[in-house]
Formats: sequence, C-alpha cells, structure tokens
Amino acid sequence: MNTDAAIRDYFAAGTLPALPSDHFIAGRWAAPVAGARMETFDPGLGRAYHAFAAGTEEDVERAVTAAHAAQGAWGRTKASERGAILTRAAALLRAEAARFAFVESLDSGKPLQEAEGDVGGAARAFEYYAGAADKIEGETYPIGDAYLGYSRIEPVGVTAHIIPWNFPLSTAARGIAPALAAGCTVVAKPAETTPLTMLMLAELLTRAGLPDGVLNVVTGTGAEAGAPLVAHPRVRHVTFTGSVPTGQGVMQAAARNVASVVLELGGKSPLVVLKDADLDDAADGVIGAIYENAGQVCSAGSRLIVERAVHGAVVERVVERVKALRMGHGLRRTTLGPLNSAPHAARVAAKVDAAKARGLAPLVGGAAATDPETDAGWFFEATIFDDVAESDPVVQDEIFGPVLAVQVAEDVDHATALANGTDYALVAGIYTRDFAAAHRMARDIDAGQVFINEYFAGGIEVPFGGNRHSGFGREKGLAAVHNYLRVKSVAAKIG
Ligand code: NAD
Repeated sequence: MNTDAAIRDYFAAGTLPALPSDHFIAGRWAAPVAGARMETFDPGLGRAYHAFAAGTEEDVERAVTAAHAAQGAWGRTKASERGAILTRAAALLRAEAARFAFVESLDSGKPLQEAEGDVGGAARAFEYYAGAADKIEGETYPIGDAYLGYSRIEPVGVTAHIIPWNFPLSTAARGIAPALAAGCTVVAKPAETTPLTMLMLAELLTRAGLPDGVLNVVTGTGAEAGAPLVAHPRVRHVTFTGSVPTGQGVMQAAARNVASVVLELGGKSPLVVLKDADLDDAADGVIGAIYENAGQVCSAGSRLIVERAVHGAVVERVVERVKALRMGHGLRRTTLGPLNSAPHAARVAAKVDAAKARGLAPLVGGAAATDPETDAGWFFEATIFDDVAESDPVVQDEIFGPVLAVQVAEDVDHATALANGTDYALVAGIYTRDFAAAHRMARDIDAGQVFINEYFAGGIEVPFGGNRHSGFGREKGLAAVHNYLRVKSVAAKIG
C-alpha cells in the first residue's frame, strides 16, 4: 500500500475502500443476526467513516459455538504446527503493516508513526508466542518405582478477549497469540469505537492457515456483545483490558461460570525523578510517558514525582518540550493526536474543569481543542498541573488524557511513599544515576512493572500487569501462556 496516496484518497473520499463490516465467525464474514449496524468515527475529524456489525447475544452464541466446535481439534494440533501458523501470521502482518497502521491510526486517532509501532509490536507478539508453542512442557512426579506420575498440560478451552480502544491491535495480539499457542480457541470483542484491525487480524490469521472457528470476532457494544460473551457458560477464561468498573462486572459474570479471568485495568503510574538523574533524559521520558497516544495509555506516567532540588529544572524542561508538540490529525504524523471519542473527550474536559474549579491553575494547556488545520476533531491540549497535593483527584483519579500531575518529594523515601499513594499499582518509572537507590525503589514501589532510566523499556518478553485496582494476572512474557493452560496430573500403578 502507498500510504501517501491512501491518505490523499481518504481525505478526498471521507472513507476507505474494502474495510470489514461483518463479524468474523467460523472462518468467514458473518452478517449480524439482528441486522443492526453502528458507525465508527475518525476522531481527528470527528465524523463517521464506516459502518460495522452491532452484535447481539445471537451473534455471540454463533461465535462461541464455532469456537467450541473447533476446540478439540485445535487443542490436539501438534504444537509446532500451531507455532508455524503464528509465524506465518507475523510475516503477513509485517508485509501488510502499512494498511494495518493506516486503519489503526484512523480508527483510534493515534499518530501514524505510533500505529506503525503498534503493528510491529503485534507482529512481535505472534513471533514470540510462535516460538513458545512447542516449549510448553510438563513434569514427572517422584511417587515411587512402582508408579508413574506425570502431568499433562492442556488448553483451558474457549477463551474470551475483551479489547480496549487505546491499543486495539497490540492488546488483541498480546492476548490472542499466547491463547492460540496454548491450543485455546478464541472469541474476541473489540471496543465499539475501534473494531476494524481486530477483524482484519482474524481474516489475516485465516490466510496464515488458522483453521475455521479457532478465532472468531464479534463487534458491537459492551452491553450488547461484550456482556453475553463474558457470561457465556462455554467460555472457560476471560482476558479483559479496560476500566475498573467494567472489569469488576466482568469478574462477577465469569464467577457465575467459575471461569478464570485476567484483568488489565487502569493506572495512575508514577514517574520518579531523583536529583542526580540526567534531567534531559528524564524530561524526554516524561513526554513519552504522558503524551504518547494523547495520554490514553493504561500505563501512562501520569504523575511526575520529582525531588525538590531539581523540581524547577525538570518542570522547565518538560514545558519546553510540551511547546514543541504538534497537535493535529494522526494521519499527518503529528505528535499529539485526538482523544478517541466525543464522550471520552467530554470526560477528560470535565475532570480538568473540575480541577480548575477547585483552584488548580494549569501551568500549560487545560482546554479542549480542535485540529488547527481543519478546526475539527476531539483534541485536548497537553496539560500540566504543578505541585499538586497528594489528596487531589488530579493525583488520585485516572484521567486517561494528556494531563500530567506534578508532585514534589523531599527525598527518596518520600518519593517512594508518594509513588505508592494511590489505589492503582500498574507500572512505575525511576530516573536516577544511583544504582542502589533505583533498585531499592524497584523493591519498595508496588507495581507490576518498573522501568529504570527509560519509561516503557522492555517488550513482549517482559510480563506486564497490575496489582490492587490495576488488576491481576500477567500478560506478555512466558507467564501469559499459563493463563491459557491447566495441569492434569496422572498417577499410575505400573508394577
Ligand atoms: P471500558 O471498560 O469501557 O471498555 C473496555 C472494553 O470492555 C470494550 O471493548 C467494551 O466494549 C467492553 N465492555 C464494556 N462493558 C462491558 C461488559 N458489561 N461486559 C463485557 N465487556 C464490556 O474501558 P475503555 O474506556 O474502553 O478503556 C479505557 C480503560 O481501560 C482505562 O481505564 C485504561 O486504563 C484501561 N486500560 C488498561 C490497560 C491495561 O493493560 N492495564 C490497557 C488499556 C486500557
């Protein structure tokens, strides 16, 4: 695909050719049983550009039935063959990366270069779990010479994957690839504002050789399509990424079927800068941590905790970099894209307005905006609230937008206490040249993942997930494969 020509064609036509419109069930496109459709929007222009299936319980029933029918054969497929299919999927994804990135940028609003990174990350997930498929091994148990004790490692069965809108493709890949490697079948429900790349991925996996019914996609709203999926008695595991209240409901629905869950929920993650840090590196880190994807990142570094001695110097550097951000439509490779939907943009604005009403004055930003070229779209200025009290909602509540709260720490222990001072515990960043202090903080901060001297360091190899209100269970890394496996122990008398 020629990206520049596609961008020109899109802006001229207001839509893209050959986008998927139906569910993907049992290896083929499936029109919604009830016949209803809903629209997906370009957040950079604030207008609809495509219609897709608004799924209901009947569509979920067909998808789960297809997954259940495919489970036996897929679970018995030689592990190396499952791996080979995932390897082919990764290669196809790389070959078609331009198209995937284009659609991901358009549907989510994120800048094209960020979407390109996400597609590369998704391809890496398929490569990584392709290699894991034939390295899933069991154990023998020492129960005496006259006995044989061993384990069989089996797939859990049909798995449901509820995908959020902020990283639609890469979140889908990091859940689906280990499930398929483990021999599980999948029914995925992408978010209602970003359905397209999940559908494209399902079709691509079929071309890579995935048997019909192993991966099914039902699109639609959380209430109409998501809720019946997570409550379905044939679903044995749910991987959910999204907000805390929805995650709590998903856990309750799964509990009725005694199905397992992994919950990847929100965050209010700290990025700590100690006084001996490289301040330019740290300021670069802050910009990536909170303004990538306009702050719509579960693991965003939304709190900058800085030692008092360097507070002014760090904030000055961050403000300088904020002024260099370019707001605008993601397809123009800007550095601050729109928020994903009008309701979400309104939520972010309401939280910032409430902070201003409490007397907080933003150091920069603080207002809703539009694309300076078109005067359209759902944008929000890069915003900083400096020296905020720990109890303020700007410090405690996830805003999920380009809004940074700065907290001032007196010393390392105070910084650690501030880092631990919210209900969330997803990730943490630490910038310092003091090796021992960095690792003491890594020990003492409650988080699922700690980055030292590079926020977001790591990749698919490193387990990811939260503690407390950020959820539980781990995705990525070899840990993730075990979400989709169960142990059967066998004990036999042999003589
Ligand atoms: P959300 O909870 O509203 O929606 C997430 C998904 O759940 C969507 O696909 C939605 O359709 C579906 N859903 C909604 N109601 C449902 C129901 N009753 N049953 C089943 N599915 C249902 O969250 P959101 O607003 O789309 O995403 C933003 C939130 O997600 C933020 O809080 C963010 O921190 C979190 N998030 C976490 C991670 C992580 O890995 N920890 C990653 C991305 C986003």
